[in-house]
Amino acid sequence: MPARAKKPVYNTERTIPMTYLAPCPSCQQEAFFKYIGMQHWPEATASAMGFDTSVALYECTNCTTCVTEYSLNPAIAPAGLQSDKKK
Ligand SMILES: [Zn+2]
Repeated sequence: MPARAKKPVYNTERTIPMTYLAPCPSCQQEAFFKYIGMQHWPEATASAMGFDTSVALYECTNCTTCVTEYSLNPAIAPAGLQSDKKK
């Protein structure tokens, strides 16, 4: 059986939205989030958590909470994270 690298859904160049309008998990308001940078994970950590190796981080302009793009857009969250939420 050939060793097969698990390909993350997003690991190539992609367009990162600079802002997001989404309900904030912290202040519970529909708020603007501004892009503050990428968070990089070592591959072992990322695959253990079901993350991509680079995750965009956003800050709520209302309460300054920092969240990942997965929180703002669950549709793009890796399957590992979604099943984790069910528990
Ligand atoms: Zn907020």
